[in-house]
Amino acid sequence: MPADTLTRPLLAATGHAAPALSVVVPCYNEQEVLEQFYTRTAAVRDRLGAAWEIVLVNDGSTDGTLGLMLGLQAADPRIAVVNLSRNFGKEIALTAGLDHARCTDAVVVIDADLQDPPEVIPALDDAARQGFDVAYAQRSLRHGESWLKRTTASAFYRVMQRLGGRVQLPQDTGDFRLMSRRALDALLALREQHRFMKGLFAWVGFPSVAVPYERAPRAAGTTKWNWWKLWNLSLEGITSFTVGPLKIASYLGLVVAFFAALYIVQLLVRTFFFGNPVAGFPSLMAAVLFLGGVQMMMLGIIGEYLGRIFNETRRRPLYLVERHLPSA
Ligand code: UDP
Ligand code: MG
Repeated sequence: MPADTLTRPLLAATGHAAPALSVVVPCYNEQEVLEQFYTRTAAVRDRLGAAWEIVLVNDGSTDGTLGLMLGLQAADPRIAVVNLSRNFGKEIALTAGLDHARCTDAVVVIDADLQDPPEVIPALDDAARQGFDVAYAQRSLRHGESWLKRTTASAFYRVMQRLGGRVQLPQDTGDFRLMSRRALDALLALREQHRFMKGLFAWVGFPSVAVPYERAPRAAGTTKWNWWKLWNLSLEGITSFTVGPLKIASYLGLVVAFFAALYIVQLLVRTFFFGNPVAGFPSLMAAVLFLGGVQMMMLGIIGEYLGRIFNETRRRPLYLVERHLPSA
C-alpha cells in the first residue's frame, strides 16, 4: 500500500493541469550539484517548451539539500518536492518520487549528480514516440569510473543474465530511462520491500528500446556507494530477482553425495582385499571441514531469502513522507 494513498485524491482535487512528463530525481546529500542539475534540466525543458514537472525527492539528506529544494520550488512552481522522513535508500526514494509523479504521458528517472545528462531526455522521448513504452539509456562509455568498477559491474550483469531466465536485465543500463504512463502504473503495482529497481523495470516488460549515451563523471559531490554497499546491492539484486542460488545447494549436495558414494565403494573394496591400516585422519578432517563450510554457506543463502521473507511479511509502508509540495 503506497504511503500516499491519502494524498492522491487530494492532488487530483487541486485541479492543476497535470504535466505531460514528470522527471523524478532521488537526492541524498546533493547540495553541490542540485542547482546545476536544475539549471540544465530546466534549460532542456524550456528549449522544448514542454510541460514537465520535476519531482525532487529528498531522501533524508543531512546537508542543505532540502533547503535548496524548497528554494527552487518557491521560484519554479513546476517543481514538486517530496521530503522523506529519513534516508530510505535510492531504490525507495525513487519509488516515492514515482508514486508522486502526476504525469499523464511519461516519466523520466534520472540521478541528481548529472551522470545521467538531462540533455539525453529529448532523445529518450523521441525514441519512445516510435512506439515504445520504455526508452532506457544505455551507457556506451563510462567516464570517471575505475577499471575495477567497470569489470565488477559487467560481471554482475553477466551473472544476472545467466540467472534471469525469462526476465532479462539489459546490459550497461542504470535507472536512467523514460517510461510511459501505463508502464509506470504497472511498476507502481509492485510494492515489495526489497526493491531492486532494475529488476522491477525488467519484470514489467513492455516494448523497450535502448538509447546509447556517454555516462559522464559525477559533476560534484561524492558517490554514495562504497564496495560494501555495492556488494549488498548485488546480493539484493540477485536474491530479489531469482531463486537460482537456492538450487545451488541441491546440485552441490548431489555432486558431493555422488563422490562420497564412489569413495565408500573404493574404501569397502580396499578393506576387503587389502585390510585396513587405519590412517587418513587428515583427509577425514579435510572432508568434515569442507562439508561444514559448504553447509554453512548454503544455510547463509537460505538465510538471505528467509530474511527477505521476514521483511516482506511485516507489510510496512515503503517510506514515510514528511512533507509533500506538489507542482502547480
Ligand atoms: N541517492 C538517494 N539515496 C541514497 C543514495 C543515493 O536518493 O541513499 C541518490 C543520489 O542522490 C543520486 C542517485 O541516488 O541522485 C545515485 O547516487 P550516486 O550518484 O551516489 O550513485 P552512483 O551514480 O555512484 O551509482
Ligand atoms: Mg552517481
